[in-house]
Amino acid sequence: MNGAKKMKTITVLSGKGGVGKSTVTASLSVMLANDNKIVAVDCDADAPNLALVLGLEEENFDSWETLTTGEKIQLSEEKCKSLKFCPKCQGLQKCVDACKYSAITWNQEKDLPEINELLCVGCGACELACPVDALTLKKVENGRIGVGQTQYGFPIVSGQLKIGESGSGKVVNELRKKASEIAEDIQADYMILDAAAGIGCPVIASVRGNDYVILVTEPTPVAFWDLSRAIELVDHFNIPCGAVINRCGINRDFTYQLQDYFKDNDIPLLGTIPYDIRFVEALVNLKPAVVYEPNFKRVFEEIMDNCLLDMENIRY
Ligand code: SF4
Ligand code: SF4
Repeated sequence: MNGAKKMKTITVLSGKGGVGKSTVTASLSVMLANDNKIVAVDCDADAPNLALVLGLEEENFDSWETLTTGEKIQLSEEKCKSLKFCPKCQGLQKCVDACKYSAITWNQEKDLPEINELLCVGCGACELACPVDALTLKKVENGRIGVGQTQYGFPIVSGQLKIGESGSGKVVNELRKKASEIAEDIQADYMILDAAAGIGCPVIASVRGNDYVILVTEPTPVAFWDLSRAIELVDHFNIPCGAVINRCGINRDFTYQLQDYFKDNDIPLLGTIPYDIRFVEALVNLKPAVVYEPNFKRVFEEIMDNCLLDMENIRY
């Protein structure tokens, strides 16, 4: 009996920004797409750039749709004023105390609370604190999702958070939903996700439930510190992972230390990428490194092969 083909999901993660994660994702995507159907997802809704690295500019996306996954608090002045005679809140300004983000101050002139929308993260604490339901969380437009076709034969889904808005984790959830729909349509073999830097909500949303994580780092103590936190996160979700050391020529001693660390912690080293000015030139020319300099294919082929081999050996 032929079962439905199960798509595999791979997240590229670094912990620290600026170590070349999107450069690695772009080249791996191009290599993977040579023999497979793939969907690429840029999960860095705060600073999306995977599409650009793949040469696809915003205006050339096929579609953009707005997202309303964010929430902001709204005040009913009428209801609040009605409390002038209520002993529960009068003079206590409960909402001001409840907001730990300093998003509510007291307007002496109006004798009413004043909400700073930029500071409100939609936690809802003030809504709970208000005894007359004068504060209500409302859905707001906080970002958008774009779908485009790269010139390398695979689609990309990219998210953008609106300036000053919160909820990048929820945006990533929506990105994944959209990418899954596309993956089903094209019967994709792989979804490759470029996570945001750090270990916060959007990163958790990019990693959770995935089949494999590629950890990208460079041989510097700062990158390693951030990577070790990312490894804790991956361990927490029990996701198999392998590592890539980028710009390995910049610090040979530390490269050896990293190799020892990965060995001691049973993290397969999928490959190393040399420090080479042509990676920067590729970025300047909006081309994946493997397209800009075909000699780099060997490096990324090795990483991809090791990753797929490691995945094959894991029982999902
Ligand atoms: S929803 Fe949360 S962040 Fe926004 S104003 Fe209320 S308490 Fe502050
Ligand atoms: S808690 Fe409610 S009633 Fe009291 S000041 Fe704030 S909005 Fe007005």
